[in-house]
Amino acid sequence: MFKKIRLRLTLLSGGITTVILIIMTLGYLFISEKNLIQTRILSVYNDIYTIASNLEQYGMLSYTWLSQLESSGSYHIFILDNGSPFLYNNKDRSSLKYDTFVSNCWEYYHTNSSAMSESTLSYLSSYKKFTYSKNQCFVIDYKKDKSHLEILIIMPHSQIHSSIIVQRFLFLVIISAALLAIWLFSYFFTGRLLRPIEESRIRQNRFTAAASHELCTPLAVILSYAETLDRTDSSTAIIKNEALRMASLIDDMLILSQSDADRFDIEKIPAELDTILLNTSEKFEAMAKEKNIRINVSLPENAIPKCVCDPNRIAQVITILIHNAISYTPENGTIRLNLSVNTFNFIITVSDTGIGIPDEEKEHIFERFYRCEKSRSVKGHFGLGLSIAYEIIQAHCGIINVSDAPDGGSVFTVILPL
Ligand code: ADP
Repeated sequence: MFKKIRLRLTLLSGGITTVILIIMTLGYLFISEKNLIQTRILSVYNDIYTIASNLEQYGMLSYTWLSQLESSGSYHIFILDNGSPFLYNNKDRSSLKYDTFVSNCWEYYHTNSSAMSESTLSYLSSYKKFTYSKNQCFVIDYKKDKSHLEILIIMPHSQIHSSIIVQRFLFLVIISAALLAIWLFSYFFTGRLLRPIEESRIRQNRFTAAASHELCTPLAVILSYAETLDRTDSSTAIIKNEALRMASLIDDMLILSQSDADRFDIEKIPAELDTILLNTSEKFEAMAKEKNIRINVSLPENAIPKCVCDPNRIAQVITILIHNAISYTPENGTIRLNLSVNTFNFIITVSDTGIGIPDEEKEHIFERFYRCEKSRSVKGHFGLGLSIAYEIIQAHCGIINVSDAPDGGSVFTVILPL
């Protein structure tokens, strides 16, 4: 049980932290990608101004300076001097397929230049900005006397894109490492957090088991002496009844403490469920007769497969259900026991025409010591029967639940895997 709680707590704390971390990371990534693009564009504008002011100051551009500018700015520069390409020994441009790509870009610029908005740099130069094949392009137009220089600056889309991919990859690595650390921490932290509770529960279980054991001996002595007393005396009957009630409570508490300590003995063997159902119901005939209650058992007509289960424990579950049905059904009522099989499961239902269980109480009746308001007048019950039935069915990987019977009363359904 503590393993389950620990896993749930780890899932909860780790899950919440993961979601918060992912949202924060995505937000930060979005802002930093925007900044990256912005910084690149700002650096181009800076260089455009530097080129223009160099041209105006010195009336020339040095090869080395252009190459340096190109490599530091992560973009490519091409120049047309009075319409003819002006070549200088710049860096390798094989990735750009220089000839065709650049001449196409120039052609695009010259065709559409009149429609592009122009930004003035000085009285001699201006620049225009456009996008060509996803690449950001800028053309500085410089005119002085008879010389006309057009300088094309291409900011390759792939370069920004690869910087973004590298950034995303780095974030992914960092976040994965952080998440791994968070999940491991959550697991160990919840383990430490639950340890004192687990230890106190173990102590409590030991105490319940020991106390129940110790109570058994004096109770057995009381019962044996009660047998020797005058049977016609009403006080003797009361002593005997109360001692029996106490013995059954002690038995129930022992079973639950064993289940809590994971020491629930379940010995599974192939068993005939129909036989278990018939034998158990027969034991209640006398009790049902006292209240004039009919018990109808309906079994499959054809032979059914054997169920791999602990027959004694399953009989105990059916005993609890029939006992409850008789206890909470008024006189002249009917109890129906039904067994059926489908492809995956055995289905046992115990329905009655009794007082029924209000919807708001249905989810609590499998809790320990829980008794519905309506049933408090029924003596001899402590509210442990259904919690024992629940533990037994859980140990068989089955399901037990309750619903309303169509003609009033309740229907308990037990599903066991085939
Ligand atoms: P108890 O020993 O009190 O019967 P259980 O754990 O078996 O304890 O049942 C819990 C409560 O569920 C009961 O106190 C009763 O209120 C309700 N209950 C169980 N079975 C029936 C039933 N067949 N009809 C109506 N109420 C029921």
